[in-house]
Amino acid sequence: MSPSIEELIRHSKIYLTDLNSSRLKRAYQFANKAHEGQLRKGGDPYIVHPLSTAIILTELHVDEDTLIAALLHDVPEDTEYNLEDIEKTFGKKITFLVEGITKLSKVHYRHNMEERQVESLKKLFIHSAKDIRVILIKLADRLHNMMTIQAIPKPEKRIRIAKETLEIYVPIANILGIWELKSQLEDLCFKTLYPEEFAHIEKKVMERSSKLSETLKKTINQIKKILSMNGVKSFKIEGRKKTYYSIYQKMFRKGKNFEEIYDLIGLRIIVPDVGSCYQVLGILHQNFTPKLGRLKDYIAIPKSNGYQSIHTTIFGVDGHLTELQIRTHEMQIESEYGVAANYFYNKSKGKNKGQSKWVQKILDIQRDMKSNEDFIEELKLDLFEDRIFAFTPKGDVIDLPRGATVLDFAYHIHSEIGNHANSATVNKKEMPLDAVLHTGDVIEVVLSESVGPSISSLEIVRTNLAKNRIREFLKNQSRSILQDQGGKLLTHKLKLFGHCGAEEVSADQKKAVEKMYDKSWKNILIDVGSGLIDPRDIIKVVFSMKELIGEEISPVNLKAYSHVIAPPKIHKIHFLVEGVNRVGLLRDVTIELASLNINLLKMNIYTTENADKSILDFFAEIRDLKHFESAVNAMKKVPGVLKISKINEEVRGQA
Ligand code: MN
Repeated sequence: MSPSIEELIRHSKIYLTDLNSSRLKRAYQFANKAHEGQLRKGGDPYIVHPLSTAIILTELHVDEDTLIAALLHDVPEDTEYNLEDIEKTFGKKITFLVEGITKLSKVHYRHNMEERQVESLKKLFIHSAKDIRVILIKLADRLHNMMTIQAIPKPEKRIRIAKETLEIYVPIANILGIWELKSQLEDLCFKTLYPEEFAHIEKKVMERSSKLSETLKKTINQIKKILSMNGVKSFKIEGRKKTYYSIYQKMFRKGKNFEEIYDLIGLRIIVPDVGSCYQVLGILHQNFTPKLGRLKDYIAIPKSNGYQSIHTTIFGVDGHLTELQIRTHEMQIESEYGVAANYFYNKSKGKNKGQSKWVQKILDIQRDMKSNEDFIEELKLDLFEDRIFAFTPKGDVIDLPRGATVLDFAYHIHSEIGNHANSATVNKKEMPLDAVLHTGDVIEVVLSESVGPSISSLEIVRTNLAKNRIREFLKNQSRSILQDQGGKLLTHKLKLFGHCGAEEVSADQKKAVEKMYDKSWKNILIDVGSGLIDPRDIIKVVFSMKELIGEEISPVNLKAYSHVIAPPKIHKIHFLVEGVNRVGLLRDVTIELASLNINLLKMNIYTTENADKSILDFFAEIRDLKHFESAVNAMKKVPGVLKISKINEEVRGQA
């Protein structure tokens, strides 16, 4: 059934007590007239779309202006009316929002356009940061388009739209913490892109859910009883829905079977205040055995996106594993509606200036970052990925992206500490600067008067903050030191990729590089030494990618990449890894490669004649030079590995 303006008004009045419904009606009539005679692909009158978009937005409790802009969002693009007409009738504020949406619709997505994707993502963000409401309208717009995607006759077009949604809109909803929209979008994309898998999971869920609902009911009843008996007066328990896409991802990525994932009961317990969260946790742990290692206190230490909640898993009714999230009502609203909650909910309570720390973070990153790549890298690090929390000896928390090292930690305390860091003790054990940190580590940085970072320090830090500070330091080094370091780094990289050192780069090759940078070889080395030129870029001028990391192929296992932003180009590379003949060598090497998401093709193991060495001979799928380096570095760390070589058809070399 088609929605009506009355329905929109009814939904809005629930939370907007001072709604000016005649203003909303006026916007509806304006849009209705502008779109008159236009039909949606499914045959509905066009107005159904902006109206549905606005109704979706009422779930996020958006303000009146946002609803009006949602009603008008396709007018300038698709009708004879323009922004001036809108401004005449609705004023500047509404026009600003509609203009923002119109601009966003010009950001086009195509397959395999990594640079463009980065650019479009960036534009989306810049705009959303200017006014978060624009992005909320865009997300709701997309959600309604995905809900009606079956009406689009061409399958290629449906797939393109679903991919665009999965790769651009879902991550944005994720960054903004709007799970409610994110999970709906995700499941609709999943259904469009993988109809068979979707149907398979849907069927299993149907079969299983009736059996499970019995246990679920019992669990909820028992927990209610226990909490009441122990004096918890006010609480709410709700079951958590698992999205089909999340089930699919867990099955695929973690290799679990359906029952393992689906049979987990997920419950959320919502209480009025923080004290009650811990009280409930204590009571439940007294009455049920908790599963070891599953307690996470994101109230005491919130995630970097601000998420707060206590997570634990207990052996519940009949020993059934039950995942619990315990949080306050406010945390609940914030976790479901993220930025929207911050913006509208807190604003309506007069609590903060209406801009969340997420938005502030995006603005900060924009200001600091110059290139697109840096921007998106930093965003990925700061918002997409998991964070770790490490501690100073005094107990201050430093939060860092996963994979951050001791040196990152040092720079995050202070640039001088980073510049003079020599080594560290991690949990009282001595560790080098490139040791990777984990949550809960206590780090004491050991300083030295003389040392300073060198260009190779850039290779062991993960955060852009540390990288920028190292570059800052290098800028003030003498040119001869920089040239020397640049030459050494280039040689190191050349050898890594199986070629000669920098001193053996031929005159012709140097000329080609000089031409590309429009600089002398000496100045190029100085730039490498100061971190301005990535030595890999030089290597790419001198050698072809095929020479460096093998022939380009389509990934053999395409589905392994269904969850990543851009379907990667893949190089097939032939490795020979020589190591001590010991139990577990193959296992340890393959574990390292698997953790880098490297697919292996065809593998052989030989033993040398006197059986003291093993040789692993295999093909691996490698994305790019950095990926190759990580693979080599990871394998080097495996105990017993002696030599890693790569074999090319034309070029043979050692890594
Ligand atoms: Mn639209």
